[in-house]
Amino acid sequence: MPHSVQEHPVTVGFDIGGTNLRAAVVRDGAIIDRRSVDTPKDPNTLQQSIVELVDELRESYQVNGVGLAIAGFLDPTCEIVRFAPHLPWRDRNVRAELSEALKLPVRLEHDANSAAWGEYRYGAAKDVDNWVLFAVGTGIGATLMNGGEIYRGAFGTAPEFGHLCVVPDGRPCPCGKRGCLERYCSGTALVQTAHEMLDAQPHRPSVLRETEDFSGKAVMDAARAGDELALAVFEDFGTWLGKALSIVADVLDPGLIVIGGGVASACDLYMDRAKAALAESIVGAGHRPLPDARCASLGGDAGMIGVADLALRSVEPQAG
Ligand SMILES: [Zn+2]
Repeated sequence: MPHSVQEHPVTVGFDIGGTNLRAAVVRDGAIIDRRSVDTPKDPNTLQQSIVELVDELRESYQVNGVGLAIAGFLDPTCEIVRFAPHLPWRDRNVRAELSEALKLPVRLEHDANSAAWGEYRYGAAKDVDNWVLFAVGTGIGATLMNGGEIYRGAFGTAPEFGHLCVVPDGRPCPCGKRGCLERYCSGTALVQTAHEMLDAQPHRPSVLRETEDFSGKAVMDAARAGDELALAVFEDFGTWLGKALSIVADVLDPGLIVIGGGVASACDLYMDRAKAALAESIVGAGHRPLPDARCASLGGDAGMIGVADLALRSVEPQAG
């Protein structure tokens, strides 16, 4: 081992996105170094890039284990990547192959579960054993943590709330149905709601009228600048989010719901409205305890921090 290698062991958490392959050197839940490269499109090159990044980090750190947060379907034992829409791996035993190539323990986990684990160990859900991560971005993802463990169901798929029908004959959804929850409560929905409000109220001024093709981020920026129509869009979003959280609470009875995903950064624009709508919509309103609701605190790093911590548990099963 070269003399420049740091003495304290670390684990490396990877976030493997369709565009960027990100790696974080994690110690005690904190990122102390990071790398990012373009995600290779070829399955073998992707695997080789991970090996090369770890080897590079080993020149500076004593790496004890590696975790990979994967946006896709894994087998129930988290050995095999079955299918990932934005990655080239298909039915590949990534865990065993990487572990062999690196001579290190390797841990695979679904990306939402990785983020949930990060928030549970070091973020907004620290020490809460029964809670739900409700991740709102382009669509809706969710992870249920039950008794401090990730709930996997019978077939290893995450809880699915995005395509519950909340508006019969409502907005069309790419899944083929109409009126799905994520058509009203997602980053995509922010844009659609804004367009509908602009059309329905043609004389109401708004900076969003200045461009045809605006993003959810633009709606967020307009609301922060005090644009009243954009603020009304978030009022609508908060109402839908609260209804969504009441469905989560009715079905699962969690103590806490953490809002993650891309919209978590706009928490202040909708959280009060969402909590009020949750309190109004839950079954038995006024006669039962309400789950707490708050926004995720680790941002886009939650998955890397979480899967690095899971990798550490593979190295030291008693940790945590
Ligand atoms: Zn749908």
